[in-house]
Amino acid sequence: MSMSKGNFNIPYPINEPVLSYAPGTPERDEVRITYRMLFEQDPIDVPMYIGGLEVRTSDKRPMSPPHDHRHVLGHFNYGDHTHVQAAIDSALAVRQSWSSLPWNERAAVFLKAADLIAGPYRAKINAATMLAQSKNIFQAEIDAACELIDFLRFNAYYLQEIQNVQPDSQDGIWNRMEYRGLEGFVFAVTPFNFTAIAANLCAAPALMGNVVVWKPADSQVYSAQVIMEVFKAAGLPDGVINMVTCDGPVAGEVVFKHPDLAGLHFTGSTGVFRHLWSEIGANISRYKNYPRIVGETGGKDFVLAHHSADVHELVTGLIRGAFEFQGQKCSAASRAYIPQSLWEETKALLIDQVAKLKMGSPEDFENFVTAVIDQRSFFKIEGYLKFLAESSEVEILTGGGADKETGYFIEPTIAVTTNPQSKTMVEEIFGPVLTIYVYKDDEFERVIDLVDTTSEYALTGAIFAKNRHVIESVTRKLENAAGNFYINDKPTGAAVGQQPFGGARGSGTNDKAGSVLNLWRWTSARTIKETFVPPTNFRYPFMDKD
Ligand code: NAD
Repeated sequence: MSMSKGNFNIPYPINEPVLSYAPGTPERDEVRITYRMLFEQDPIDVPMYIGGLEVRTSDKRPMSPPHDHRHVLGHFNYGDHTHVQAAIDSALAVRQSWSSLPWNERAAVFLKAADLIAGPYRAKINAATMLAQSKNIFQAEIDAACELIDFLRFNAYYLQEIQNVQPDSQDGIWNRMEYRGLEGFVFAVTPFNFTAIAANLCAAPALMGNVVVWKPADSQVYSAQVIMEVFKAAGLPDGVINMVTCDGPVAGEVVFKHPDLAGLHFTGSTGVFRHLWSEIGANISRYKNYPRIVGETGGKDFVLAHHSADVHELVTGLIRGAFEFQGQKCSAASRAYIPQSLWEETKALLIDQVAKLKMGSPEDFENFVTAVIDQRSFFKIEGYLKFLAESSEVEILTGGGADKETGYFIEPTIAVTTNPQSKTMVEEIFGPVLTIYVYKDDEFERVIDLVDTTSEYALTGAIFAKNRHVIESVTRKLENAAGNFYINDKPTGAAVGQQPFGGARGSGTNDKAGSVLNLWRWTSARTIKETFVPPTNFRYPFMDKD
């Protein structure tokens, strides 16, 4: 129960409007100037943030834009187990004071952070995301600005809703529920691909009264430091969120053996999540509490077209779904099932439109496709391209090329396979590669099963159809194939408050980021019963003599 002196009201938020960045708009000039300034300034030195300290080490790791990997934006400081330990200590030192702060005060910190990003930090966090993750301006805006602002504002509203969930009270008693932060610290481990996710995996537990040790992905540190700058500017007390940059397993070695581990908030690949879960399992008897485990992981997201679909709608969904941010969204369309009767027209349109996608630096706003995140990812995707080029079951329709001379560029690639179980229909590639299986129109029912059973994941998926019976039956039959299911739309671009996001099966615990469901995981409720006039004799009436 908060100690607030009033039932304060956070109004229901509206989604942050996405700015257009069209020629002539002020935001276009501002973000371009900021990008250039960050690109040209002297290399920066990003510390770890541990308690109130900015910690630097002698192990400096370079940060470079993926589209211009010889240019050094700065360095970050690689830590070791001592820094992880210090981060845990700093978090636990402020746990009491932070978790006892009234909920409205905690909400105010993050509402202020949202307004800082919407206003004075918007150009900076977008430009940093363009540089760190090679997003074009639109992809940066919908992530680092809008989605992050929405996470912060909607979560503050949901926190308020949670306070209002209170039990019944009968005559003579008063029952209450207190929404406590977890007793310990939360370990947030975040992926490279969304600045908003990185911030939210820390902010959501912190909002609920928890203290956090955060390990960002190495390739996201350049934009992660802007998140820390915003949190500080918003008045987040030192030690509530501690950012350590170090090797994942090194952090895990300290964190997973610590008796005060209260939760893991993870987004990243399925293999890593399974490993972290098993580490927690192996150490379960060490902990004072059972750690909450929340993980959103990989996807092999499908587009299923029925012969009643509109081909132009389908093709737009495929191109945006597969190639925006180079297919590096967990929700990216990476396998598609197209009926024979629509294939010639679909194929011609796909080839025609992909030829119009420009690729290059995000500083040139005409570019739709930019670079993939790093060399490791480049080689991994290139391996899939080689597989496609060599496979006798495959025809490559567009792309297939890769060039890392200046940046890690992979051409938007569409392949058609005759084998619906081939490697690129099954495995998450995390790059701009779409594989299509063309089916005979009368095999539609079999294809629904194929969609359901082909991969271990169940994150997002889409049906394109006009026939209402088909839409209904596919929606029902694919009930467990995706946590986010789209009808006549691309499977990407979920908005906070509108399409709560997450999947099941191999794709995660489906705790729906950007909804109240996620916040429930970060509180440990205490029930309080108060009796006003307590009984003074142990005897019950049934015990009286007949
Ligand atoms: P990743 O799994 O390689 O890394 C995620 C984080 O885990 C990084 O911070 C990394 O350093 C850390 N890590 C790796 N090994 C570790 C270990 N042994 N101990 C502790 N930490 C460790 O993922 P990535 O490449 O950064 O992100 C891409 C993946 O994230 C894709 O699989 C994608 O589908 C998934 N993703 C899922 C969602 C979702 O909502 N379902 C959203 C975004 C990304």
